[in-house]
Amino acid sequence: MTATLIDGKAFAASLREQVGELAGAFEARAGRKAGLAVVLVGEDPASQVYVASKAKQTVACGMASFEHRLPQDTSQDALIALVDRLNADPAVDGILVQLPLPGHLDEQAVVARISPDKDVDGLTPTSTGRLALGLPGLVPCTPLGSLMLLKDQLGSLSGLDAVVIGRSILVGKPMAQLLLAENCTVTIAHSRTKDLPDVVRRADIVVAAVGRPEMVKASWLKPGATVIDVGINRLPPEPGAEKGKLVGDVDFAEARAVAGAITPVPGGVGPMTIAVLLRNSLVAAYRNEGLEVPE
Ligand code: NDP
Repeated sequence: MTATLIDGKAFAASLREQVGELAGAFEARAGRKAGLAVVLVGEDPASQVYVASKAKQTVACGMASFEHRLPQDTSQDALIALVDRLNADPAVDGILVQLPLPGHLDEQAVVARISPDKDVDGLTPTSTGRLALGLPGLVPCTPLGSLMLLKDQLGSLSGLDAVVIGRSILVGKPMAQLLLAENCTVTIAHSRTKDLPDVVRRADIVVAAVGRPEMVKASWLKPGATVIDVGINRLPPEPGAEKGKLVGDVDFAEARAVAGAITPVPGGVGPMTIAVLLRNSLVAAYRNEGLEVPE
């Protein structure tokens, strides 16, 4: 058996197209473009690439992009003051502070300062609480994108056994909440889990969000399981190559022979994250204008 490939790249492209249409409809009704502000502190090269890509895709979808690049030595007070200004700015519907922040800054305090109505990353305590309570709110992009892929692949998830490997605030915990809300029986595994292969083997759905290259082996999987590989790991470069290969947390080559469906890395969950960020920004824009969000 060879697993079906879950094409996150194609799904993300169609999601961006939908967002583009909604953005046009929003502009016609609100008399302004929906706006996403991205804040980057310091010179981290990976973060610079992400921020540039987010800005480009925001504009391509017909939204306004506001980029704020601050020096590495920006103070906590200056960053909080910027978040406050963006919270108060009616042209800004979504605020994303690119993480990680330089070590001298209090990341939690900065994130908590973002207005929950503009929290397109879904990381404020209010958004986290709303997700846990089942109230409408903004949900972290990577797990929401992963859920969209799962529902597209499987339809109803009700009653399925799901194992989420990883318990981060950004991916693992919100992923588990989303699966629970879909009536899955959810297990959250982490670095202290005993007999991880046995735990994974009972899952109809496996979401790997660990950050360890090719850790999940084919022998851990229940035949036919649906596997969502969130991990993005760069291997050391081969001799003569400039960059190493990107791989996920799942040993894709062997898992493909056992799983029913699987996301590749790259081209699986990765492209979904920014597409969902754009969708979250638009949802925030509609709500901020008191308009009903079209389905
Ligand atoms: P974190 O480092 O915050 O969390 C990793 C989790 O994995 C922790 O809960 C940790 O457990 C668990 N873990 C570590 N080692 C093991 C192990 N040997 N066995 C079982 N569990 C283990 O990472 P993130 O959640 O932020 O990201 C996870 C991966 O997803 C990374 O590769 C990251 O690059 C990728 N990612 C991809 C995105 C995308 O757009 N596709 C977006 C965000 C992340 P414990 O809590 O016990 O330490």
